Amino acid sequence: MEDLCHYINGARVAGSSGRFADVYNPATGEVQARVPLANGEEMAHAVAVAQAAQPKWAAVNPQRRARVLMAFVGLLHRDMDKLAEALSREHGKTLPDAKGDVQRGLEVVEYCIGAPELLKGDYTTDAGPGIDMYSMRQPLGVTAGITPFNFPAMIPMWMFAPAIACGNSFILKPSERDPSVPIMLAELLEEAGLPKGVIQVVNGDKTAVDAILDNEIIQSVGFVGSTPIAAYIYERGCANGKRVQCFGGAKNHMIILPDADMDQAADALIGAGYGAAGERCMAISVAVPVGEETADKLIEKLVPRIEALKVGPYTSGADVDYGPVVTAAAKANIERLVQSGVEAGAELVVDGRGFSLQGYEDGFFVGPHLFDRVTKDMEIYQKEIFGPVLSVVRAQNYEEAIGLAMDHEYGNGTAIYTRDGDAARDFAARINVGMVGINVPIPVPLAYHTFGGWKKSVFGDLNQHGPDAFKFYTRTKTVTARWPSGIKDGAAFSIPVME
Ligand code: NAD
Repeated sequence: MEDLCHYINGARVAGSSGRFADVYNPATGEVQARVPLANGEEMAHAVAVAQAAQPKWAAVNPQRRARVLMAFVGLLHRDMDKLAEALSREHGKTLPDAKGDVQRGLEVVEYCIGAPELLKGDYTTDAGPGIDMYSMRQPLGVTAGITPFNFPAMIPMWMFAPAIACGNSFILKPSERDPSVPIMLAELLEEAGLPKGVIQVVNGDKTAVDAILDNEIIQSVGFVGSTPIAAYIYERGCANGKRVQCFGGAKNHMIILPDADMDQAADALIGAGYGAAGERCMAISVAVPVGEETADKLIEKLVPRIEALKVGPYTSGADVDYGPVVTAAAKANIERLVQSGVEAGAELVVDGRGFSLQGYEDGFFVGPHLFDRVTKDMEIYQKEIFGPVLSVVRAQNYEEAIGLAMDHEYGNGTAIYTRDGDAARDFAARINVGMVGINVPIPVPLAYHTFGGWKKSVFGDLNQHGPDAFKFYTRTKTVTARWPSGIKDGAAFSIPVME
């Protein structure tokens, strides 16, 4: 069995804490590697290396920094198959989905190639007699990111690409469930020309995370993961004076109005509900058809599609719609929640319980489930299941449907299916959710827009990627300059104002 490592100062480094976590192949249930869990000293060492490397990197002009990212994009394309295979082997998602994971990260790297433009400051000439005023965006120094298991390529790239484009160094603490791809990405960055020490990958669990949060040198922390951990990281990071942005869990509703194309809506729900085994923060987990007739039609369309879903290992290639979930614990949690739904009286229209795949009996596969007549008081409605389980909540009218999404504690993504432009406009304007799809089931914004939810799906203000990322990873400095000299008139004691 392979022992994985950290990536510090441009080299793979073995862990020295003596603590490890098992990394599984979710399709077979076998432990395929051990990942070292860093202690405080290992983290402090990585931070010191990052601190030493950062000023020199910040002094490289933005165009040259962008060229490193340009070369990195080329290497991502070159190694796409290798990255996707390593990703699927540890995560379990299908190969096309793993390539999508790399691709959606790569697109943010492409956006960050615009750093010279994005980092340009503002300038006002003649703000007063002989006075010019300008603002510049300067890097923070050493920055850090803590990422979830479900997008082990995309989310690290969403963080480190803007961070290093802005001239920071970056410490990545990836998920301990699928840590191989982040190390491969760091190596590709170095091959692309990134100086040693600008990116470090330090594997670990809560001990490593706490070492980040309490480290005085680290200036900012980005986090993506579940809401309880997001809240914890936000509070502790902010209490320690850091700039912190945390993105949490989700329960995304899709509203289907009676005038929607039911085939389109059903197809959308299948992809958005069951793709990646439902392990996406933008998965649709609640369908809200408006009116009994709409609900009946939708269920009628959904059932055969769900029953036809092909579940299997990524090695089966194009024959598979979704793979296993990430761990035995994730599978057990999904099964427990399904049971709670049955006991609470929801109608299990497609029953995926007891699913087993010949030859992969020990894999963490979960069959697809569809619940009808789910109500607000049920645990399956309130909690994020993060599995291939779709709940239908029947609403009598549009107001009740939008009210459901508005009242839910999460506000990451949502969608409406309709042919009525007026209803769609009203929905987009009123809904208290960060990312909205109109006849688009998974409205993940493209790299040049920003990504972020509302309510308990987010802690902090700025979003991920797009222009917000360049704000998050820089500080503004504003200079007021008077040349050659305006101070010969003597001191002024009242605040300068524009008369
Ligand atoms: P998680 O919260 O268990 O782990 C995320 C990270 O936090 C990992 O790096 C992990 O090592 C670390 N961590 C775990 N427990 C910790 C603790 N007690 N103290 C400190 N650090 C800890 O999340 P996950 O299971 O890896 O990912 C799934 C979750 O992430 C889901 O809730 C999903 O909705 C969410 N997610 C959100 C977004 C978004 O943009 N809003 C995107 C992807 C995933």
